[in-house]
Amino acid sequence: MDCNACGETDLKWDQQWFENTGKWRLWSIQKEQPHSCNNNKPKEEKIIRTLSCPKCNALGKAKYIRADKFQEHIRKEHIDWGDYT
Ligand SMILES: [Zn+2]
Ligand SMILES: [Zn+2]
Repeated sequence: MDCNACGETDLKWDQQWFENTGKWRLWSIQKEQPHSCNNNKPKEEKIIRTLSCPKCNALGKAKYIRADKFQEHIRKEHIDWGDYT
């Protein structure tokens, strides 16, 4: 079976552990050790880059746009310019 939380495969319920402790835990068959779920590892901090728009620069109004808003900016302000990739 697979772990739903972290996507690791080749897991089984540890029957032996259950008989000893009364608790279920997942066992990684490949690693031959208890499954340690790495679902809880901290997410990478999102760094928001800003770009200066070359089209705006060319028009003499330097502008910094968040990278994730750049496409939107191009579509709105420079419709004639096409997609910037
Ligand atoms: Zn897991
Ligand atoms: Zn622009």
